[in-house]
Amino acid sequence: MSRVVETDILIVGAGIAGSALACALRNTHLKVMVLEKSSLPLDTARGDHLQPRTCEILKSWNILDEFFEAGAEKRGQTTWRNPNNEVFFSSQYDELDAPEPYFAFLNHELIGEVLINSAASSKNIELIKPCQQWTIVQHQTNLVVVDAIDDDGQAIQIKSKILVGADGRGSKVRESSDFETKITSYKKPLVVLFGQSSSYPHNSDLNIYLRKNRMVTLIPRTGGGFKIAIPEDRSEIKHWKKATKQELKQRVNEQLPELELDSVHFCDFYQPIDLRTTRWVNNNTVLIGDSCHAMHPARSLGMNLTIQNIEKLAKALIDSEPTRFNLALRDYEQNNKPALDKILDENHRYAEIMDSGSSDTFSMLEQKLTALKGNPEAMLQRLKSTAGYR
Ligand SMILES: Cc1cc2nc3c(=O)[nH]c(=O)nc-3n(C[C@H](O)[C@H](O)[C@H](O)COP(=O)(O)OP(=O)(O)OC[C@H]3O[C@@H](n4cnc5c(N)ncnc54)[C@H](O)[C@@H]3O)c2cc1C
Repeated sequence: MSRVVETDILIVGAGIAGSALACALRNTHLKVMVLEKSSLPLDTARGDHLQPRTCEILKSWNILDEFFEAGAEKRGQTTWRNPNNEVFFSSQYDELDAPEPYFAFLNHELIGEVLINSAASSKNIELIKPCQQWTIVQHQTNLVVVDAIDDDGQAIQIKSKILVGADGRGSKVRESSDFETKITSYKKPLVVLFGQSSSYPHNSDLNIYLRKNRMVTLIPRTGGGFKIAIPEDRSEIKHWKKATKQELKQRVNEQLPELELDSVHFCDFYQPIDLRTTRWVNNNTVLIGDSCHAMHPARSLGMNLTIQNIEKLAKALIDSEPTRFNLALRDYEQNNKPALDKILDENHRYAEIMDSGSSDTFSMLEQKLTALKGNPEAMLQRLKSTAGYR
């Protein structure tokens, strides 16, 4: 006999998107169930810097302090350097007129843990992790019935008013609910490494280096050290993977000769894509996060935009009568998707610059950013938008 659970909201996936939505709905009148297939922590190499706007949202959910208790640190600056290693542009977030004028950074898996642990400690949220299997057995416009196997191997039937697909790029929810999807692949995968350097003077800034044919990013990690992201030709990936520590140092120094590494190790490589669904909502199904807008990490936006949208989705659901959830979802899409699509277009243009590996394109970018410095209004606008205020 299956245990039968009736719920308001069934969230599939407890990455950042699913965990953040559950967190935003904790201690509300809504009953929420979360199914996560994996028992492993999230991938540490992914999004780890929370924009000032995202920090403001986390504060409004009364959870920001928990990130600092888990070890989060603050970053106030992003710096751009040209091939001569000269700083040609920087953004100072402590100049921002915002409640949280800094980026908070914490490893991705810990961001996920803070969100999901806080959600799961609330009486109105049930988390099944790992959920070994689930299948939609009935799907009507205001009811979805899912048969699942819970973390103890027991059968469970979940009857929910709405279904949320938070199951990432390869979303099964998206596939099962007929969402039209467009995917663009970029030429260059990103090689991600972790490094330490006691002599590197810019450890607490995010540093972007425009080199002859690469845009290389050094992203601070908690406790010192950094994540290094290098766009690379596909044919080179195998060489990065099998390189010795010494060879890795040499490869990094080909791009950043000024960086003296005490240690470095290869983490992984990522094939970036731009994935968009034409709709986010289909009756009582809604997609969130990478399941409907996976993007190139060039501008460090995927997780941040996800949390910023989830704030709006959570408000729409909390304010709605359960009998009117479908209308609330439709309004949420209509009010938010056009603006997000524009940001995705901008992100795609920027990702193409990074992907081009062209020194001409990089010098145009350098000129464009340098020109902004003569225009305080445009500088302020850029500072705000890169902080998540649009
Ligand atoms: C290298 C890299 C660096 C990045 N850097 C940044 C950054 O600095 N800033 C930023 O904002 N963003 C960044 N991003 C993007 C960001 O990490 C993602 O946009 C974000 O993590 C997406 O979260 P998600 O929950 O939508 O998807 P995912 O993280 O993919 O989570 C999906 C979850 O669903 C689960 N799942 C999958 N299928 C099923 C199923 N069938 N049933 C149940 N559960 C399922 C998975 O196990 C997983 O836990 C980066 C991404 C990459 C690859």
